[in-house]
This record gives sequence, C-alpha cells and structure tokens, in this order.
Amino acid sequence: MGLLSLGTPLEYLESRKHNEDVRDDGIEQLLYVFKAASRRDGDPLYWGDEVEYMMIEFDDFGKNATLDVRHDEVLTALNTDDYALCVAHNVHFHPEYGRFMLEATPNAPFKGYPGKYVEFNMRQRRVVAGMAYDRLAKGESGRFGILTLATFPRMGCPDSINVASPWDHKNMASCSLFLPDEVINRHIRFPTLTKNIRTRRGEKVCIHVPMYKDEKTPDADDTVYRRDWFPREDAESELAARPGYIYMDSMGFGMGCSCLQTTFQAPNLDKARYLYDSLANFAPVLMAASAASPIFKGWLADQDVRWSVISDAVDDRTPRERGVEPLLPKCNKGGFGAIAPELHDKVQRIPKSRYSTVDLFLGGNKFFKRSYNDTDVPVNEKVLSRLQENHIAPLDYDLARHFAHLYIRDPLVIFQESIQQDNQNSTNHFENIQSTNWQTLRLKPPTQESVPENKDKLGWRVEFRPLEIQLTDFENAAYSLFTFLLADFFLTFTEEINAYMPMSQIWVNMDRAHKRDSLINTKFFWKDSFESDGSKTSELTIDDIFHSESNGIFPRFINPILIHRGFIHKSWEELKMSADHLRLYYYLKLISDRASGKLPSTAKFLRDFVLNHPSYERDSRVNKTVNYDMLQMCSHISNLDDSRGELAQFLGNEIAMYLVNSRL
Ligand code: ADP
Ligand code: MG
Ligand code: MG
Ligand code: MG
Ligand code: MG
Ligand code: MG
Repeated sequence: MGLLSLGTPLEYLESRKHNEDVRDDGIEQLLYVFKAASRRDGDPLYWGDEVEYMMIEFDDFGKNATLDVRHDEVLTALNTDDYALCVAHNVHFHPEYGRFMLEATPNAPFKGYPGKYVEFNMRQRRVVAGMAYDRLAKGESGRFGILTLATFPRMGCPDSINVASPWDHKNMASCSLFLPDEVINRHIRFPTLTKNIRTRRGEKVCIHVPMYKDEKTPDADDTVYRRDWFPREDAESELAARPGYIYMDSMGFGMGCSCLQTTFQAPNLDKARYLYDSLANFAPVLMAASAASPIFKGWLADQDVRWSVISDAVDDRTPRERGVEPLLPKCNKGGFGAIAPELHDKVQRIPKSRYSTVDLFLGGNKFFKRSYNDTDVPVNEKVLSRLQENHIAPLDYDLARHFAHLYIRDPLVIFQESIQQDNQNSTNHFENIQSTNWQTLRLKPPTQESVPENKDKLGWRVEFRPLEIQLTDFENAAYSLFTFLLADFFLTFTEEINAYMPMSQIWVNMDRAHKRDSLINTKFFWKDSFESDGSKTSELTIDDIFHSESNGIFPRFINPILIHRGFIHKSWEELKMSADHLRLYYYLKLISDRASGKLPSTAKFLRDFVLNHPSYERDSRVNKTVNYDMLQMCSHISNLDDSRGELAQFLGNEIAMYLVNSRL
C-alpha cells in the first residue's frame, strides 16, 4: 500500500447501498486477473518482509514513555522530501492504522537468498526513519525513539499518548472508554474504518484477553468505568467486561499492534496454491515461536501473542452472525447491527472474524483432498457459481470456494469517487474485500497487466502473516529468513512433500498458540510424516516440532534446503564453521534455542521483567515506571547495546557477543 489518495469515504449507512455492486465488480475484476495471469509461469522467487514500528516519546523527568502521535509527518517526509534518500537505501515507508506507526519494506524485493542483506536493509530503515524523525522532532524537550514492539504495554491507560488533553473532546470514531481518536492515522480512511466496523456490528468491538493471575490481581479489569458521553456505547462496556479478563473496546487495540510479514512470489499459480497450503500449519507454530505480546492495556496477560486481540478488534460481525444476544437488545434490534432490513432474511452464521486463521486449503495439486477442508466455512453462493461458470476465466471449485468465502464479507470503506471502476483495468473493488480479510496467509493475485509475456509485472504471491515483531533487526531478519527457507523448500520439493492435515487441527493449534508459554508447555498437532501419503498427526511440543529427527522442521525442511543450496553437508549447525554463512547460523540458532526453551521468547522475557521489577506490586498492573524502564531496556536491546548486560540476558551470551562484535 502506498500513500493513500484522498477521497470521500462513505459512512456505513450510505456505503451499504453499494455493497453488492462492489462485490459484483470485485469478482469481475478478479476474473479478468485470472484471464490475464492464470497461465503465467517461471516467475522468480522475489520476496520481501514488512516491519511495523512505533514512535515513542520518553519523558526522562516524569519517567514515562508514551506513544508519539504528534510526529506522523515523519511518514509524509519519508514519501516526499526524503523519498530519494529512501530509494537510494532501498527502503520504502507505508502508512499504518496507528498515527504513531510506520511500516517499512525493502523498496525493491529481494531475489532468492539475500543472506545478511535482509538485516542490513532493516537496519537502513531504522537509520533513514530515525534521520527524518530527529529532524522533525528537533528542538522539542522530549526524547524520541523508534521501537519494534508487538504491543505498546500501556496503550489505553491514562497518559499513554503524548497529547496534553485528549479527553477535552469526544472520540467520535471509536467511542472507546480508553483510547482517544488521536491514536488513529489522520487519513480519513482509518477513522471511517473504525466507525464503520462499529456501525455494522451494532456495538463497539469487544476484546477479552485472559488476565495473568498474581497474588493481588483483582477479580476483574477495574479500569472499566461509567461515562455518559455516548449513551449506548458507554453502557455496553459494563455488560461486556468479564471477570478474569482484560477488557478492550476499540479497533486501535488490535490494529495498533505491530507484526512481521513476509511475501513470496511463486513461479506460477499452482505452486502458489501449494505453498499457501503447505504453510498453513506453520502459521500457528511460528506464531508461538515468535511470541512477543505479554501485556495489554497496562495489565499482564495470561496470553503471549497479539492475534486474538486484532481478531476481535476488527470483528464487524453482528450479534446474529456471531450467534449471540446483543449487549443492549433495545439498541440493536434482533442483533442485526446495521445490516439493511431487506437483507435480514439472508443473514448467515459466521463462525470467525475477518481477521483469523486461514479457512480453506486452496488445493490444485496431487496431494490435496477435499476432506482436509473439514471446518464450517460459509460461502457466498452467488460468487461461488459466478467464479466457476463464466466466459472470462472459469475457476475450479476449490479456488472458487476460497474467494467465495472471502466474499461473505461486506466492504468496510467505500470512497464516493471510486464507486465506478473499469473492471478490466482496476482491482480496487476486488482489493476492498480481499485486503480486509486478514488471515494467517494471503494469496495475493497479480493484476490484469500480468499477462505471461509481461515479465516485469507481478506474479502470484503468498503472504505469511502470523509472526510477532521482534525487538531487534537481527531477530526480525532471522524469522524472515526462516520463512524464506521454508518457502524455498516447498517451491523446490513441490512434487515430494505432502504437508496436508485436517484444517480443524490447524484451528485448534491457533487457539493453543495463544496460551502463556505455549512455546514450552503446549502440544500442537503436527504431521507424523511428510511423505506423499497420509495425513496422520500427533500432538507434539514445539521443541519436537522443530527438532525431531523424522519430522521436525530443522531436520526435515531446513537441512534439506540448505543442502540443496550447497551451504552444508548434513546439518545446519555446520554453518558455524562457514565463512560465508556464519550469521545465518546465529539466525537459526536463535530460533532453535527459543524452540527448545534454552532462550526465552520475547513475551516471557518482558513478562519476567515486569514480575521482577521493584515497583511491581504483584497485582498484574504494569505501572508507568515499569513501562518506562522496560521500554528503555527494549531501546538498548534494539540498538545492540549490551553495556548493562540486557542483550545477553535476552539472547544468551553467545549470540549477544557475536552481535556486539559483528555489527552490520
Ligand atoms: P501489503 O501491505 O499489501 O502486504 P506491502 O507492499 O506492504 O504489501 O509489502 C509487500 C512485500 O512484498 C514487500 O516486502 C515487497 O518487497 C514484497 N514484494 C514486492 N514485489 C514482490 C514480488 N513481485 N514478489 C514477492 N514479493 C514482492
Ligand atoms: Mg504492507
Ligand atoms: Mg502493516
Ligand atoms: Mg497491520
Ligand atoms: Mg502485508
Ligand atoms: Mg473472536
């Protein structure tokens, strides 16, 4: 996504009149993409990552750290005055939901195995963004910094953004009890998205995270209070909050989290489908292995990852679609939210939020069986038949079913100026639905320009979306390259490896991956063998999933691809002796040591920091001092500054020493 063009976004009650037209046009656009690009072949393995950053203000006198919502012109500068500098450093900055957020990618994708260039490029992003930030914040009294935190620990607490009086006016977009609208990107798309989700649902969104239980932890989230700004929304909170859970009530709590994503281009559509399906069960496992989110809204959580929070934060389903009673039946008649009355008899049950685990394998290869798609996945029947029966580019049932599922959703934001589209040249309406289906994987189709002969245009890509962002470029490069090696493996051994298993077990894995310390305490469904036949699974620890000789990720996937590339003879540990690939050794060692429990996950490390802080009162609250000290420490770690021994505690002595002595 580039800088967003301005336009007039429609409020939900206006925009819903166009829902069906947008869907119809979106599907026609998709058909023209298939017509152009379905026979494309031989595309190289281009790929790239996306890193999300938070701008933080440190108040060294008041000992507080806040989300910096006052310097969002940094993003503008990086796309205007500093654009040439960005291109020269091969970096590109994108807008994100939070006004305090930046997203950055390489400007030109990587091709094949880039080695330590991934980390070098990530480093350039921090340097370039830091320069623009320093310039724009110059002369101000605060101290500012950019961190890659999965969640801002005190988001939604008093004094957690750097605006003097955020509550002297109402937060009309989110109506949150906790989050001022100043956290939301100023671009009109984002407040509209926030408002339209709430309107469609007929209630504020409602997020519950289990609270970490300590000696003096209160029975319930006692930050929920009675306010009378918005009669309906304010009354909902007391009804929605639950004992034992942290309660949050707006989109920003989810979309304000940061994550790490990687996108891979496959040579052709069939291989993209195979790659997508093969990575499906890696998503929960790698999410658990990258856990970095132990604190929400100033409370220690009994959960280690952000995923469910975002899932609930953008959940636009009405109570009826969710199969529950509305919180305030008088205000949300029949639980239909803002679904148009003439469509009430068509409303179906929708089991999951639009932000969730993958729903369906895409199939299209010899290993796939339809019975692997064993979960309850509603489809848009009209779309399902249109995609299969048309004169433009008929799709097979399994692929049609995938898109027909995405198309059960309504568009969330429609711009007045973009309602009319040329379906043979635009993908705007298709992307409207596609890009607001946030699943653990995304199949990214190219465009109508991507005919096979047009080699310069995009091909079929698969995005891997579950990873939690890490504090250092080193770790983010490690996880990115790890997913690259897996993608490379599957694109190389496509004819030999069968990674299919029942989708229902992947859903279960995703739930389990949320648990505190699931990295060391939880078992996940994993295949007994990846040979061509069979889909038998057993429940294994993460350690076994990574290291088991017969079916573990290192022996079964990482070693073979490294052998194939000529990097090693037998085992990845040989890389320690390699002149060219020593850094790769440490990337893999980091992931291996976390998977075996030798090193803590980021989530565990940060939770332990709170539990051991002198001003922590055994009540699960993360106060301002703890937050300030923790973010200071995170800042040292992300700068690879080990002068206080924090880096060594976090990554172990060996990795820390290596990093300090071999900066990129
Ligand atoms: P989105 O936010 O829609 O996922 P971004 O543009 O933020 O997309 O990120 C896409 C990622 O894909 C970037 O890292 C980019 O370098 C990478 N990329 C760009 N072109 C290709 C390509 N042809 N194949 C694979 N990856 C690509
Ligand atoms: Mg992006
Ligand atoms: Mg993003
Ligand atoms: Mg995001
Ligand atoms: Mg992305
Ligand atoms: Mg949910």
